[in-house]
Amino acid sequence: MSMDVENKDSLDKTEAPRPSNFIRDIIIQDNQTGKFAGKVRTRFPPEPNGYLHIGHAKSICLNFGLAAEFGGECNLRFDDTNPCKEETEYVESIIEDVRWLGFDWGNNLFYASDYFDQLYQWAVDLIRKGKAYVCDLTAEQVREYRGTPTEPGKESPYRNRSVEENLDLFERMRAGEFPDGTRTLRSKIDMASPNFNMRDPVMYRILHADHHRTGGKWCIYPMYDFTHGESDSIEGITHSICTLEFEDHRPLYDWYVEQLGIHHPQQIEFDRLNLTNTVLSKRKLLMLVEKGFVSGWDDPRMPTISGFRRRGYSPEAIRLFCSRIGVSKTNGIVEFGFLEHCLREDLNARSPRVMAVLDPIRLVVENYPDDQVEEMEAVNNPEDASQGTRKAPFSKVLYIERDDFREDPPKQYFRLAPGREVRLRYAYLVTCTGVVKDAVTGEVVEVRCKYDPETRGGNAPDGRRVKSTIHWVSAPHAVDFEVRLYEDLLRQKGDEDEDTGSNDFLSTINPHSLEVRAGKIEPHAKGAAPLTRYQFERIGYFCVDKDSTPDKLVINRTVTLRDTWAKIEKKGG
Ligand code: ATP
Ligand code: MG
Repeated sequence: MSMDVENKDSLDKTEAPRPSNFIRDIIIQDNQTGKFAGKVRTRFPPEPNGYLHIGHAKSICLNFGLAAEFGGECNLRFDDTNPCKEETEYVESIIEDVRWLGFDWGNNLFYASDYFDQLYQWAVDLIRKGKAYVCDLTAEQVREYRGTPTEPGKESPYRNRSVEENLDLFERMRAGEFPDGTRTLRSKIDMASPNFNMRDPVMYRILHADHHRTGGKWCIYPMYDFTHGESDSIEGITHSICTLEFEDHRPLYDWYVEQLGIHHPQQIEFDRLNLTNTVLSKRKLLMLVEKGFVSGWDDPRMPTISGFRRRGYSPEAIRLFCSRIGVSKTNGIVEFGFLEHCLREDLNARSPRVMAVLDPIRLVVENYPDDQVEEMEAVNNPEDASQGTRKAPFSKVLYIERDDFREDPPKQYFRLAPGREVRLRYAYLVTCTGVVKDAVTGEVVEVRCKYDPETRGGNAPDGRRVKSTIHWVSAPHAVDFEVRLYEDLLRQKGDEDEDTGSNDFLSTINPHSLEVRAGKIEPHAKGAAPLTRYQFERIGYFCVDKDSTPDKLVINRTVTLRDTWAKIEKKGG
C-alpha cells in the first residue's frame, strides 16, 4: 500500500500536474449525464505506414492518459486499410514505441483488417437500404463530378442503379471480376453538400494487392473513412479523439453509424503537434529515409520515437513534454527548444556525470611524478546522492578541451592561459607554464603546467581562489570514442499544420546536422552498453549509440547543457 503511495508521489514529481483541458471536461460531463454509462474507452489508431513520431506521442499520451485517469481502457488499433503502403515492420516498430513510452493496452490490440468481413456486410446493408451504389466512373471522373467549394457536384450517372444490380456488381467486385480502378462502391448522400466529404464518398475500391495480414483474401478494400468510425464503433469506443483535420469528416462518420444503427462514439478533435526545425508527417519522414538524408527511421536526428530513443531521450521526458503542451482547438507550432527544456529537466536527475573531452589537446603536468597514478573520487550525480561516486585516474599526461586553453586570452576568458591557475575537476589546482608548438604550423600541440600537491581534491589550504574549473581525462587511461554531434535537421521555422503534399521542406535541410569527432573519455565508460546515458561535465547529455561495439564506443549527443528556453522563461517571468 505504502509502495503505491510512494510511486504516485514520484510520478507526480516527474509528470507536471495535469492541466485542465477541454477533452477532460467533456468526459467529466458525459460521466455526469451518464451518456456512456460512465464508461471511458479510447484508442490510439495508427496506420502502419511509417514509424511513430513525437506528434503521435501527443495522441498516445492523451488517449492512454485519459483512459487511465477515468478508470477506462485504451485500445491500440492498427487502421490498416491500405495494403500498398503498409508493412509488418511498421506494426512491430509501433508496438515497441508505444510500450517504450510506458503505455499498456492489455489485451486490447486490434486491427481494422480483422473487421473486413463485418465492414463488407455493412456495405451490403447500406446497398440494401439504398444508401450505397456501385459507380463506374474513373477516379479522375469522380474528381470532376465532385464540384468545387462554390459549386455543387454532379450526380454520377450510376447513382440510381437498382439495389439488385448494385448487390450483384458489388459481389462481382469482391470476386475479382473487374480490374483495379474500374469501379467503386460509393455512399449515396448529397452531391450538393457544402462538405466535400458528404458528396457521395467512396467506400470501397478495387485493389488486387496482398495485405500484410489478410494476404490475398480481398481484392476490394474499404476506404479509411468507411473503416475508422466503424472500427471505433465495433470496439465500443466512447470518446474517439483525433486531430483537427478530421473535424470535417465527423458528419460522415456520424452518418455511417446512424444509417447502420450501431454504437455511436463521440468524436473530439484537438490540435496536431507541429515542432520547429523538423517535419511531422510520415510521408515526409519516409522521403528523408528513402532519399538518404538520414540513416533510417531511427536516425537520432529524426523526430520519430525510435530516433529520440536512440539519441538518448527518456520516455519520461517525452511524457512530460506532452503533458505540458496540453491540447487546444487551434493548430500552432511548438519550439523544439521547449522539448529540449523538458528533456534536460528529466536527464539532469537521471544521468550520471562523467568527464569526456570532445576536442582533445594534451596537458602535461611537469612536476607530477612520471609513473604515478592517483584515483580521484568523482561524484556521479550531485542531484542524486544514491548514484554514489567513482574513481577517475589522474596522471602526468592528461587531455583537456582545446577550447579550455588560450595563449592570448580575451578579457572575459577565465580558463587556462599562460601563468594562470585553474582547478582540474576533482583533482588539483594547476598553473600553466607554457606550450609546445608544431615547428611547421606554429599550432599549439601541447599545454604545460605544474600542479600544487597541497590542493588534492581541488581546494587550496591557504584559501586562494581560482576563477575556473575545467574537466580532463588521463591520457594513458582514456578510452577513445566516436562522438556524433547533432544539430537541427531542418532550418525552417516549422511545418504546415497538415501535410499539403509539398516537398519544399527538402530545400531547408541543414547540411551540418551531423558532425563526427574523435573524443577521449574516462575509463569508467569503457564497454558501456547502447542506450547508456551520461552527462558529460560542462558539455551536455550524451547516450551510447546502438552502433557501439565492445571495441568501438560510439556516443550521441542528446542535447547540450545550454537551455535557451529556461532563459526565455526567466525573462518572461
Ligand atoms: P502523418 O500525418 O504523420 O502521416 P497520420 O495522422 O496519418 O500522421 P496516423 O497513423 O493516422 O498518422 O495517426 C494515428 C493517430 O495519431 C491519429 O489519431 C492522429 O490524429 C494522431 N496524430 C498524427 N499526427 C499527429 C500530430 N502531429 N499531433 C497529434 N496527433 C497526431
Ligand atoms: Mg492518417
